[in-house]
Amino acid sequence: MEEFTKHQIATLSNFVAADRFSVGRSNRELHLHDISAHRGTLPAGIVWPVTTEEVSRILTWSYAHDVAVTPWGAGTSTEGNPVPARGGLVMDMTQMNKILEIRSRDLQADVQPGVLRKELNRQAGKLGLFFPPDPGADATIGGMIANNASGVQTVKYGATKDYVMKLTVVLPQGNIIQTGCKAHKSSSGYDLSRLFVGSEGTLGVVTEATLRLTGIPSHHLAVTITFNKLSEASQTVAVMISSGLEPAALELLTPELVKLMNREKDLGLPEVPSLFCEFHGISKATLQETADLVKELCQDCGATGFKFGVEANDRAELWRARHEAWETIHRAHPGNETLIVDAAVPISRYPEMIVFSQKLVDEKKASGYVFGHAGDGNLHVVLVGDPDNEAQWSMLEDINDQIVTRAIQLGGTCTGEHGIGIGKRKFMELEHGQSYQLMRQIKDMIDPKGLLNPGKIFL
Ligand SMILES: Cc1cc2nc3c(=O)[nH]c(=O)nc-3n(C[C@H](O)[C@H](O)[C@H](O)COP(=O)(O)OP(=O)(O)OC[C@H]3O[C@@H](n4cnc5c(N)ncnc54)[C@H](O)[C@@H]3O)c2cc1C
Repeated sequence: MEEFTKHQIATLSNFVAADRFSVGRSNRELHLHDISAHRGTLPAGIVWPVTTEEVSRILTWSYAHDVAVTPWGAGTSTEGNPVPARGGLVMDMTQMNKILEIRSRDLQADVQPGVLRKELNRQAGKLGLFFPPDPGADATIGGMIANNASGVQTVKYGATKDYVMKLTVVLPQGNIIQTGCKAHKSSSGYDLSRLFVGSEGTLGVVTEATLRLTGIPSHHLAVTITFNKLSEASQTVAVMISSGLEPAALELLTPELVKLMNREKDLGLPEVPSLFCEFHGISKATLQETADLVKELCQDCGATGFKFGVEANDRAELWRARHEAWETIHRAHPGNETLIVDAAVPISRYPEMIVFSQKLVDEKKASGYVFGHAGDGNLHVVLVGDPDNEAQWSMLEDINDQIVTRAIQLGGTCTGEHGIGIGKRKFMELEHGQSYQLMRQIKDMIDPKGLLNPGKIFL
């Protein structure tokens, strides 16, 4: 559905204040795509609810009238996750953006879903706390919950799923439920919070969340390690993790990406296979011990260069550059789009996955940058091309397919953190087998008409 009737517009306008429902074309076009090349169907209207009750009223009506609804956070997904595949209504959650309470004694925050991650961390930071999952982009908490987002510090602190304690969710037919509780532990029945985390807005709309926070570490140690060979850098990752060193971040970068980062940020880094690591500790002395161990271990693995204890400013600049890797690549290839490969494997298989992926990019003479949240066994390849150039784009898709298929065969997953959206649906059967059917049955039970974020996760 690409246009609402006058009657539908009048009804929807009654659910919210006048400036929070729009059928204006520019608003609709702004909600047509995320950062991927996946394009949806132009939605017929956009609504910005501010309360759980408004969400409930809108969903009750849309369900009764067969109108598809697609929840929308900050639109930073990479697989078409918030793209309205069947038009209808986009429910933009960005105005439900209140931090309701931060309870420092419980290490918890109650938030609305439109709160931005960086704002939560600004406020929690005043109390010495932070919310660790960090997808780089300034995503909404609702979008992070729906995608089970993670990031550079997941290797130590975990993913979004590890921080969700309690949710308020509005189901597709408008009923409001609460899942989970605020106790640190519970073994009370099915873990419904975990069901909604990672469900990409296909099962319900999250309207409130209680999140776990953690203390900001008092001491940081940043390390950059360089190698002559990519295989040595990736082997070192597996050795470092299996030795129990517990880095707070462990990122792998190939020379091509370091070169782009140097060009853009003037970082002066050696343009060779590199690891960026960070360690957190309770004292300088414990971090010094860790540094000595890391150095010894990396030397045994063939490292050629180390830089320890990078100063606070340099550290921030280094991580900013890493976080902005995608933007840097995008800017270096004006007029092109990116296809971001995201797969994860058991850590012991990471080295072969990295070497396989780089070889594939080289063999196909593709424009592609290999890197990853190495400590989690998570690999990315940003492939660059023009979706209108059919031969070129299908070559990039073939690279994506081969890497993802290999990751699944090695006991891994088709997506470490970006979710399924539109792009990864074709791998679900291969990865999950019978369980994919169970997922479909759950979807059919909660949303029998298939109206909430249709066209995602399931083919
Ligand atoms: C440069 C860049 C780097 C990135 N790096 C990472 C990374 O390292 N790790 C990572 O995990 N991701 C990464 N991402 C992907 C993306 O930022 C995350 O997946 C993020 O969590 C998406 O949040 P969002 O607010 O933009 O949500 P959107 O993209 O708007 O939506 C995401 C999904 O959530 C659903 N949704 C939104 N709000 C709600 C709600 N209230 N209730 C139910 N469903 C809802 C949508 O329907 C959609 O399915 C990156 C993106 C970019 C652009």
